[in-house]
Amino acid sequence: MDVLTDKDVTGLLEWYRANRRTLPWRDTDDPYDVLLSEVMLQQTRVEAVIEYFKRFKREVPDIAALAQIDDEKLMRLWEGLGYYSRARNLKRCAIQITEEYNGKIPCDHEKLLSLTGIGPYSAGAIASIGFDLPYPAVDGNVLRVMARYLGIKEDIRSEEVKRRVTEVIGRHYDASVSHEKGHYRDLTQAFMELGALVCIPNGKPLCEGCPWRENCFACIEDLTDRIPYRSHEKKRKTVERTVLIIRYEDSFLIRKRPEKGLLAGMYEFIGLEEKADEDEVRKYLEERDFKVSEIHSIEDARHIFSHVEWQMRGYEIILEEKNKLKENEIWATGEELQGYALPSAFRTYIDRYGLRKKK
Ligand code: SF4
Repeated sequence: MDVLTDKDVTGLLEWYRANRRTLPWRDTDDPYDVLLSEVMLQQTRVEAVIEYFKRFKREVPDIAALAQIDDEKLMRLWEGLGYYSRARNLKRCAIQITEEYNGKIPCDHEKLLSLTGIGPYSAGAIASIGFDLPYPAVDGNVLRVMARYLGIKEDIRSEEVKRRVTEVIGRHYDASVSHEKGHYRDLTQAFMELGALVCIPNGKPLCEGCPWRENCFACIEDLTDRIPYRSHEKKRKTVERTVLIIRYEDSFLIRKRPEKGLLAGMYEFIGLEEKADEDEVRKYLEERDFKVSEIHSIEDARHIFSHVEWQMRGYEIILEEKNKLKENEIWATGEELQGYALPSAFRTYIDRYGLRKKK
């Protein structure tokens, strides 16, 4: 049977209390901070989240403010963090908490699980870190650490491995055993912190500084470069696009994306499917009755989403006059563009024209 010893759990907690990082969402007993940080941290590195978290907290300090936030403002605050459906779900979650729980995040694991966008990992994290309840939270860091400690040689992304790890660490979240206040809050963060600081990915964990080195299978057997095991990654789909930076004097033409799908509801420069050559771009502009004064080829760009890679060809088009727009299109000056959520997929073009919002 897979076992994580009591001695190693005690060693982990001692190591955590001596080595943990100071983070803006730590040492708070406000579950809103835990909810917000956990949603931001999904698929995103801690270093990248810190400034976003501080800014979001300043502008949207609690559940009531989040439930009422204007969608455009929400997207602006999330701009650059990626995975925008997280932000939309976070707002839905706040509305649900307002309507069903009187604006208070429920101190109950089952109720947490019923909230929009909150799966087993987030429910465990909010329950244990936010409320000091005995529920584990198994994220990628915890899976990696435990796969090495236990010597798990199956694909780390499989449901079976997640179930095994949850069961093993879950035995140390036992409500019948009494602990000092803050025990589960620290325990959940200790597992994650060990993965973030010591048992790091890519085959080079810092075992000499690890509290588990005497009992860890991968360390003892010198298999840290082989575990965690991953079967071959699915190949990412490549999508070719053409990005048209259409300008008239100091204004740029942008359009709102559809409310569903990738980057839903955000803004983008006008685009064409596939990489168009200059003749094809001119044809599109003629069909739209744009009066073109100049057209230049500009930088190509690339953006990687989780399952798709965009390969973009860019053109700058200067118009002689503004013409009739479609319903989802608008003209905005560089300054006005600061008020629209332009995703970082367009970073190359945003930077080219200095359109990045000042944070
Ligand atoms: S001993 Fe090394 S491989 Fe094992 S858990 Fe610690 S850092 Fe990871």
